[in-house]
Amino acid sequence: MRIVPLACAIVVALSLLAPSAHAAKPKRLLVVTVTKGFRHSDSIPVAERVIGELGAKSGKFEVDYVRTDDDMARKMTAEALKQYDGVFFASTTGDLPLPDRDAFLKWIESGKGFAGAHAAADTFHGFPPYIAMLGGEFETHGPQVEVEALVEDAKHPATKHIDKSVKVFDEIYIYKSYDRNQVHLLLDMDKHPNTKVAGHHPLSWNKAYGKGRIFYTALGHRVDVWEKPWYQEHVLGGILWSLGLAKGSAKLPTAP
Ligand SMILES: [Zn+2]
Repeated sequence: MRIVPLACAIVVALSLLAPSAHAAKPKRLLVVTVTKGFRHSDSIPVAERVIGELGAKSGKFEVDYVRTDDDMARKMTAEALKQYDGVFFASTTGDLPLPDRDAFLKWIESGKGFAGAHAAADTFHGFPPYIAMLGGEFETHGPQVEVEALVEDAKHPATKHIDKSVKVFDEIYIYKSYDRNQVHLLLDMDKHPNTKVAGHHPLSWNKAYGKGRIFYTALGHRVDVWEKPWYQEHVLGGILWSLGLAKGSAKLPTAP
């Protein structure tokens, strides 16, 4: 009987060829939507859904959610964070009840990903190390307005799908505690969103934080922004980069 050894040989050969056996396990992303200040109650549920869909469609990451103080107390201790590869702060606001906020920053610094949208910069005004990690702090905004977002890095996974610029109607933040030399710009404006006075105003950036990777986009106040394919690709690129799944520069303007 030669069938059995032949079958064995085929199984061995197939197992050597099968890439699925070696495919990377999806990363785990914790989507945080707790608010202690203003709540974007219309766009937060859309953000939660879109990020979950981006993970499922790409097959690259799975999401879990922190929606309440209780979720935060259970899922964001130093010990519990070990099971995640990154977080996404989707319009969080205020001083969040993290079980150990210093341990949270150390966790990012150790090589994890932090991605944030819109009011992630209106979070932890009372905790300067968070603002330093993020690279900017919400100061104010005017009426919603259409702006032209200019691409500053045409190769980054968060912006490479945008051809030079994209027009977007949204609530546009003005920042403080922001230094353009301390971030790698992805999207910005060359004039004030409302007054149109010439000047640099950031819309999205990324940066290194120890061994960790930080991605932030100012956009995402409005539900219809979250629904736009180009914005979803922007967010997906930022998430994949922050999780270390897509290559992109984080070089600072002052770096040699
Ligand atoms: Zn807003």
